[in-house]
Amino acid sequence: MKRLHLIWSCPLSDTNRITATNAYAFGKLNYFLPVITCKLQYLQSMDRDIRKLLTENGARHPNASIPSLHLDKKLGGRGIKSVEQEYKLAKIKTMLHITYAKDNHMQYVRQHEHNKKVHRSIVKDAEKYAQEFGIALHLADEADGYSLCYETETKAYAAVGKSANVVLKTAVNNNLQQQIAQQPWQGNIMKDAWISESLDPSSLAWLSRWKTCPSPTVAAIEEIRQQILPTRMYYSAKLQQQQPTTKCRFCGKKDETVYHVLSNCDALSPSDYVARHNAGLKCLFFALLKKHNLIDRTPAWYSPGKPSPVYENQTIKLTWDIPIFTEGVIQHNRPDVVLWDKEKRKIVILEMTVVWFSTIQEKKAIKDQKYASLRAELKRQYSDHDISQISVVFDILGGHDRDLKQQLRTLVKPMNVERVMSNMQKAIAVGTTRIAQKLKYLTK
Ligand SMILES: [Zn+2]
Repeated sequence: MKRLHLIWSCPLSDTNRITATNAYAFGKLNYFLPVITCKLQYLQSMDRDIRKLLTENGARHPNASIPSLHLDKKLGGRGIKSVEQEYKLAKIKTMLHITYAKDNHMQYVRQHEHNKKVHRSIVKDAEKYAQEFGIALHLADEADGYSLCYETETKAYAAVGKSANVVLKTAVNNNLQQQIAQQPWQGNIMKDAWISESLDPSSLAWLSRWKTCPSPTVAAIEEIRQQILPTRMYYSAKLQQQQPTTKCRFCGKKDETVYHVLSNCDALSPSDYVARHNAGLKCLFFALLKKHNLIDRTPAWYSPGKPSPVYENQTIKLTWDIPIFTEGVIQHNRPDVVLWDKEKRKIVILEMTVVWFSTIQEKKAIKDQKYASLRAELKRQYSDHDISQISVVFDILGGHDRDLKQQLRTLVKPMNVERVMSNMQKAIAVGTTRIAQKLKYLTK
């Protein structure tokens, strides 16, 4: 615990703190976990102490999902090891090792541990823990040792010896995912993301690529994803606390839920939502300006500056939030960004929006429909031009659909797409955490 106190009180980024925890603190544990016998209650209390330490250092909400803390980062978790889980895995790995090790001395250990008369043995413990993870252990041949079999709905795994580590990791993550999916409040958004066919698989994992992100920001993002913000509906429906009213403290019209405050409140829409939208879009706009040599240097994603309305040279014109004047009257004639490529005779309308998690496809179709008349009018006026529209839709924590990356490749340099998208995701997620912070100030 001393090592953990040191790590979590240091001014390191969240990624570095987690790496240090898993390598520096758990590295020491891994030496003796395979050979000691511990009561699970003792290990569980160590896990509780670690969670308490994280909460005290602003790195975790006290009511945040526990399985999510230990889930792999690529699946949307925090990736912090659990002492209990490591102990159980160590027992399974040790059991596999003593059955396949070719060392002559190991046969005595093997004989002892396989003795059914022994009250407690590594073999018995390992079989019990493997069952908890949904893994079957088969002793095909005493000489070959145990093989490890694991089946999911879509795939079956079988492994012997050291290759078992990969299977064990998969089984542990699947087990944690099942636990999260069963949490009806905290797990809803993650569960929907895992089963969604249209959402890009990196939508939950992008945060793991932000290596310098501080722990309080990660904790704030986690709070939003798990819907444990201090809204009136959270107190009333989740914590069962009596509330004088459940109406929103900003607009007073609708129930105060995480969905309403972060994506649907009329009182926050003209200021906070616009600021979040512009912060995200700006990253893409500056990348376009740089590509077409309209600026010398791309500002950082967090820079406060606002772009000028028009940038133009001999070949390209880029406009930011400027209406397009057409001969006919068009109701929606003010897209976020318009790119006029004079050389290639091309006009691209760029429209961005930030929406609630499960509504990306729906909002994309609305945006495409909204500017259909403008596209038709432009086609009539500029018949020799190619007119197109790209609707950039992110969810409030930077998730996006599978097509977006490919669409943006046609605009910015392909080698820069990942970086630009990552900057947009950071700007949007930080914008959302600022709105959540505003709600927390009201609660204090
Ligand atoms: Zn409201």
